[in-house]
Amino acid sequence: MDLLTKSLDELHLMLVKREISSKELTERFLKRVCSVEAGVQAFLQVNREDALARAEEADQKIAAGAEIGILEGIPMALKDNLCTAGIKTTCGSKILENFVPPYNAEVTERLAKAGAVLIGKLNMDEFAMGSSNENSGFYPVKNPWDLERVPGGSSGGSAAAVAAREVAYSLGSDTGGSIRQPASFCGVVGLKPTYGAVSRFGLVAFASSLDQIGPLTKTVRDNAHVLNVIAGHDPKDSTSVPYSKPDYTGFMINSVQGLRIGVPKEFFAQGLNPEVEQVIRKALSTYEKMGAEIGECSLPHMEYALPVYYIIATAEASSNLARYDGVKYGFRAEAEDMIEMYKRTRAQGFGEEVKRRIMLGTYALSSGYYDAYYLKAQKVRTLIRQDFAKIFEDFDVIISPTAPTVAYKLGERSDPLAMYMGDVYTIPVNLAGLPSISVPAGFAGGLPVGLQIIGRHFDEGRLYQAAYAFEQSTDFHKAVPALSGEVL
Ligand code: GLN
Repeated sequence: MDLLTKSLDELHLMLVKREISSKELTERFLKRVCSVEAGVQAFLQVNREDALARAEEADQKIAAGAEIGILEGIPMALKDNLCTAGIKTTCGSKILENFVPPYNAEVTERLAKAGAVLIGKLNMDEFAMGSSNENSGFYPVKNPWDLERVPGGSSGGSAAAVAAREVAYSLGSDTGGSIRQPASFCGVVGLKPTYGAVSRFGLVAFASSLDQIGPLTKTVRDNAHVLNVIAGHDPKDSTSVPYSKPDYTGFMINSVQGLRIGVPKEFFAQGLNPEVEQVIRKALSTYEKMGAEIGECSLPHMEYALPVYYIIATAEASSNLARYDGVKYGFRAEAEDMIEMYKRTRAQGFGEEVKRRIMLGTYALSSGYYDAYYLKAQKVRTLIRQDFAKIFEDFDVIISPTAPTVAYKLGERSDPLAMYMGDVYTIPVNLAGLPSISVPAGFAGGLPVGLQIIGRHFDEGRLYQAAYAFEQSTDFHKAVPALSGEVL
């Protein structure tokens, strides 16, 4: 079996037994990047020298007989909205094209301390606004399963890089579905943790009350390994929760006997592609065969989730993005006076979608409209949260499709509203701050379909258990897209 397809446990064991060095492993991944990147374009930047230097450090530690952690010496990459000290962090935007952060995001720091080998920064929709990666300020990522299709977004680079086996794992961020939906489109495992479980310090803010960082991996167990390292309280983020973090790999239990699964009827209504529905129904019957109890449930306010999200997320974004004014960061346009400089910098530096959202958000927050839109949206957000709480009185987890369709063709969804509809199943979860995971559940027309499992706050362990049991009974996570003629 090729190194690129091995799990974290397998790679770790090879390093410990010195069957391979971290340098050789890193070179193997970098070679893969070279052979597939012309097509996939998941990376905005590859940091070859830095990566090899980190690999060297891991090798020295191993040579000295020191114990190494599970992620030590293994190549990975980060979404380009996660700050990396001394390494460009563009957030997929021209306005930050040359921004080099002076500090690491907390997750970057934790991974560095764990000895992870960062090989580069991953492409994304500008400021994480989008569902297809076509909003990248540089170039769109392509889906490794079909290069004419989108990888999903906004963490499209993070999902595509794992699917194409260019890295062992990656991190993405999820404000309304941006980890889970690309994971679904690319056939990988993606977790959006509970709001507050992973520090947002050093994550370039989009909508602060919704953003969460999470891992994208080949398997559920790999995912738990990465979460173990990045989760946990951080005093630098005031929304980070001091909860008692379990060892998430302890939940790899191949049983769902008696697990109560709720299936929201609103998620199987109009707009769901019939082939995707078939895959999800089949997955549900797999769960039933494994001893889970399945019942229907309801999210009565689900129809308001999208409008509520697009008021709250744009309002927060308009405020968060006010800092890009040509003075503090990166790009500055030439102009005669200061006001003109602000205007031109923002007009030239931001892309269309970002400008659209700043305008929407500014409008929703403006005096006279604040109560009608923003405050109302916050109240409905509470109702949606309560809908979930009610379901969790009777069920342990909720299962649904991750997205209503499989990956579509580049350029196919030019209408922003059609694009927004693609997140109907993921957005309510962010509004409620719940954890949710997307796992490969099958294929429709040769393209991956993801199954979404939603849990109670801080119940990631149970999500992992449900996801792991399903993964053990299927082979979908083992499928690798055929790229550049390399058979893995
Ligand atoms: N697609 C959604 C949006 O465009 C979600 C993005 C995200 O989760 N970052 O806002």
